[in-house]
Amino acid sequence: MALSSAFKERLDQMEFTRNQRLDLLQAEKELQVNKSKILASKHASIQSIERRCLMLDQKIAAQNLKITVLRSNIEDLDSKYHGSIQQLRSLKSEVEELRELDEEREKYYKVKCSEMNEFMQNVERFRSENRLQIENLRNRIKECREKKKKKMRVKRQKKNRRTVRFFTVCYGFRQPYKVLCDGTFVHHLVSNEITPADTAISELLGGPVKLFTTRCVIAELEKLGKDFAESLEAAQMLSTATCEHEEAKAADECLSEVIGVKNSEHFFLGTQDAEFRRKLQQESIVPLVFGLRNILLIDQPSDFQRQTAKDSENKRLTMTDTEKKLLVKRTAKIIASNREKGTIENEEWGMPRVVSTRNGLGVKDRPQFKRNRAKGPNPLSCMKKKKENNTEKPQSKSKANSNSGAHKEKKEGESDTKKRSRKRSKKGMSGPERTE
Ligand SMILES: [Zn+2]
Repeated sequence: MALSSAFKERLDQMEFTRNQRLDLLQAEKELQVNKSKILASKHASIQSIERRCLMLDQKIAAQNLKITVLRSNIEDLDSKYHGSIQQLRSLKSEVEELRELDEEREKYYKVKCSEMNEFMQNVERFRSENRLQIENLRNRIKECREKKKKKMRVKRQKKNRRTVRFFTVCYGFRQPYKVLCDGTFVHHLVSNEITPADTAISELLGGPVKLFTTRCVIAELEKLGKDFAESLEAAQMLSTATCEHEEAKAADECLSEVIGVKNSEHFFLGTQDAEFRRKLQQESIVPLVFGLRNILLIDQPSDFQRQTAKDSENKRLTMTDTEKKLLVKRTAKIIASNREKGTIENEEWGMPRVVSTRNGLGVKDRPQFKRNRAKGPNPLSCMKKKKENNTEKPQSKSKANSNSGAHKEKKEGESDTKKRSRKRSKKGMSGPERTE
């Protein structure tokens, strides 16, 4: 029985350890359950965390996307900013340039302004100078015009006076000049207010004048009626030249008759009728006066009038046949008688010249001058007279009588004073002596 006790004890021990182990297993089991419970909860929480992580990842991805978008935006903006800066710079430089330009322009403007001012001053000066010059030139033109007018007037007057002189010298017209006026001339004088007419005409002719008209002219003016009343009144105040027309004739016929060809009354004729003037110029010796607006003129002598004057002058200068015969006869006689007496030294004898103051028409056309010759020798150049019986001085010069050389011998010694006064006639035909 000793082995069975040790075994029984060992079986008991073994029972005990198995109970213990069962207990432990139970505890372990419980622990395992707890552990699995905790694990499951842990697992769930891990899963939820994972889910949350996923969500966060997604969020992060979205945020990253946003960030990249924003970054690209920023880059865009940056590039824009740079571009803008560039633009700004260029604009700034442009502004700078513009400012410089502006300054330059300002300077240019100032310069131009001063130039302009100078120019304006120059223009002003030039204008005032020119204005002065123009004024001066105008004055000079005025002066020149006046001078020309004056010159013309003087020239005209000279021409007119020359014409008058022609008629006084060649045809013996004398002052006061007689001017026969017809109706047209009187009307012209009245309508152009050339008054007083006689003063105007005497200024034209260069001497006092007397105005005439004829009854026929007045009658004609009367016929012309109211328009010519003033002219008629003026004509009636003039002197009347006699015409022998019982019945009034036409004015031009009457005047032609009054004047005639020779115009022995020495009338000037005033008429505005150009045709009538032309006609008279061709057939009578009459100076013609007419008016041109407010100027009075005198027609130039016509060819007929000049030729007539020339002819009568030639007639006067040449001898007629009878005069020649008489001359030859008388000189022969004188020479013969002188030879007999032996007093002649020189046989060149001449007839004293006889010059008529009447022209070929029988009209006296020259003035007859009386010469104031010295009655004796110049007393200052002579010795004093000694005695009464010595009064006759030796006179070597022979004298020639005005009418004929035949009287010469007889009269010599008769009067010394006469001798001296005839001295020149000794020279013969060329002497200027004039006798009737
Ligand atoms: Zn008459």
